[in-house]
Amino acid sequence: MNLDASIAEDTTPRKETPHGFTLVVLQSSSLCNLNCRYCYVPGRMAAEKMDNETLDAAFRLTVGAEDRRKVTHEFLWHAGEPLAVGLPFMRNAVERCVDIALADTRFQFTVQTNGVLVTPQWARFLKEWNFGVGISIDGPHFLHDANRRNWANEPTHDKARRGLDILLNEGCNTSVLAVLTKDSLDYPDEIFDYFLASGTPGLGFNIEEIENQNTETSFGANPMGKHNKDAHQRRVRAFFDRLFERWWPHRDKIQIREFVDVMRCASAFRADNGFSRSPDEGRMLGIVTIMRNGKVATFSPEFAGATSSAYGDFVVGDVHTMSSLNDILASPVYARLKNDIQSGITACRDNCIYYPICGSSFISNRYFEHGTFLQPETFTCVAMRQTVAEAAFAGLAHEAKKGHAGQSPSAYQG
Ligand code: SF4
Repeated sequence: MNLDASIAEDTTPRKETPHGFTLVVLQSSSLCNLNCRYCYVPGRMAAEKMDNETLDAAFRLTVGAEDRRKVTHEFLWHAGEPLAVGLPFMRNAVERCVDIALADTRFQFTVQTNGVLVTPQWARFLKEWNFGVGISIDGPHFLHDANRRNWANEPTHDKARRGLDILLNEGCNTSVLAVLTKDSLDYPDEIFDYFLASGTPGLGFNIEEIENQNTETSFGANPMGKHNKDAHQRRVRAFFDRLFERWWPHRDKIQIREFVDVMRCASAFRADNGFSRSPDEGRMLGIVTIMRNGKVATFSPEFAGATSSAYGDFVVGDVHTMSSLNDILASPVYARLKNDIQSGITACRDNCIYYPICGSSFISNRYFEHGTFLQPETFTCVAMRQTVAEAAFAGLAHEAKKGHAGQSPSAYQG
């Protein structure tokens, strides 16, 4: 799972519902103004939007439900391009949520956008409602425009970058999410310099993934194949080694999500060796995805819109007919998913030395890469958990040896 707009994931293990946290992914439309090469979202030319009845039902089951009073809900607007629904739609949706929310409920809004449609009006609205905004930019022109094109196959970097500048100028709580392709691994300096100069306070990375409609990536259709894995991992490691080296002196100006998460987890593990990360996607009702038509998926949002011989369309409910979010737990599809996902989590816990800093992540990648949840290691986890951790630990050890003043790197080392 990779679509969190908040740059620094909370790595504190959360209790399960109803006393915890639920990320509610709202897919108000699958429409997208772009046609990025690696996109996995189906139906990106379909303009239909979520109607008021569906919005209200979604909010009644979450912030309007007595049985969820103690849960913090994060509403993440995501997939295709959330701003494509227009500002009046989004204002109406947010106001409906606030009207329906019971007193004393805690909730927040986040959005993941490609940035192209951002205007000062949008930015003021997002600021007014204290949205966390994730904006997708892959780096300088030559990297971004290689993959992020519109439907006329035109480059989009300049428009996305203008969106980022507007968001930062308006003081929106903004961070950047960059996709790493095979080619971009050759450019850690260019990528770091670009984002440092942009002024973004937060930066996260996703490696290009085999997911749903995206069945082959720049790393090939089988990146975990016999000869492929080691070669890719060496290049990923070189990228993050260099990135860490460049980032460390500037860590007060820009947070790199992957390094910050590893260091937080390592620090928590040092304090308590029973600690392990607890990703939302593996927890009961940690993530609930509500599709435009009100159908509900859970665990990874990437399951929404996918089909499978084992799990059908991954649908575990419909907001129009559910009386409680807990109805999901009675769904036969949920029961099968939960059982199989838990087996994968157990395999991670029993076999992987990275489990404390990972907690069994990228569950949907597991399914889409291997066709099963039982084979836990994926190209994504090798790259973005195992290799990132090795690079961060090596970087910290190097900094500790240099004896840099300030925040001690050794505080994070296990
Ligand atoms: S790094 Fe991979 S194999 Fe290890 S715990 Fe995480 S998901 Fe499981």
